[in-house]
Amino acid sequence: MSTAQRPQVIAIEEHYFDPELSSHFEGYEAQPKMGTRLLDIEDERIRLMDEAGVDVQVLSHAAPGTHRMDGAKAVPLAQRANDRLREIIDRNPSRFAGFATLPASDPAAAADELERAVTKLGMKGAMVHGLTQGLFIDDRRFWPIFERAQALDVPIYIHPSRPHPAVIEAYYKDYVKEFPSITNAGWGFGVETGTQALRLVLSRVFETYPKLKIICGHLGEGLPFLLWRIDMTMSRSGNSPLYFRDVFRNNFWLTTSGAFSHAALLCTVMEMGVDRILFAIDYPYCENSPGTEWMKDVPLSTEDRIKILNGNAKTLLRL
Ligand code: MN
Repeated sequence: MSTAQRPQVIAIEEHYFDPELSSHFEGYEAQPKMGTRLLDIEDERIRLMDEAGVDVQVLSHAAPGTHRMDGAKAVPLAQRANDRLREIIDRNPSRFAGFATLPASDPAAAADELERAVTKLGMKGAMVHGLTQGLFIDDRRFWPIFERAQALDVPIYIHPSRPHPAVIEAYYKDYVKEFPSITNAGWGFGVETGTQALRLVLSRVFETYPKLKIICGHLGEGLPFLLWRIDMTMSRSGNSPLYFRDVFRNNFWLTTSGAFSHAALLCTVMEMGVDRILFAIDYPYCENSPGTEWMKDVPLSTEDRIKILNGNAKTLLRL
């Protein structure tokens, strides 16, 4: 499909496996079924992009990255993975861009690696996955990462990972056997990642770094639907003054990854404005075509559709 007949399509939550980093993953995250497609960064990947009309993938390592490793292990692994991601992009520079992997368990080193990845390797920001050694990313010890992201003017993408084991035990275990997706993309991912985003606002990190840019996938992990109610109840007496909705609308950008619903998209547009929404598939966990086909008849103007498909990504990521 030629771009002359359709808008350019930039998809920004598209995952891959670095062979060395992913060799440390265990259990379902080692992904025997998805592993081949995650490790493939040229042949079938590009063929499937062409088939579905995805022009550019902004690549990010699949979860959990280095977030469960200590700093001594995570730092060199993340550096090598980022170096190799640069090589992947260099082989197909018109088809790929990248988000860096960060060794967040050593926040000072992670801030330095973010800077190196952006200034030396050309990465467009970074992705973090779930809890870092059991801690939410709003914890003050991680703020050096946000300070550097603001200084570099690049976004940090908050991505799901397996929920805390105590949460799985308390909330999900009765249904895990029959419905294993309850812990991950079916529910658990969204609850935990929505909590990450909510906690970031409550932490007041955006008062310290007002130009910090955060991306969330899956049309905001449910937060656009809940935004009015969160804002209303957080404003009740007994709560510290905080303009939750204003902060969320000012510092967050949301993507369509794995959430190809017109109803959910329209809710997100109505809360966030169309300039804050970027196209993503979540390949290979979602196929490309359902995403590109879905966008063809979204009930939005052509101008707005093009913003979502490419314009907002070009602006936010300076592509
Ligand atoms: Mn994803």
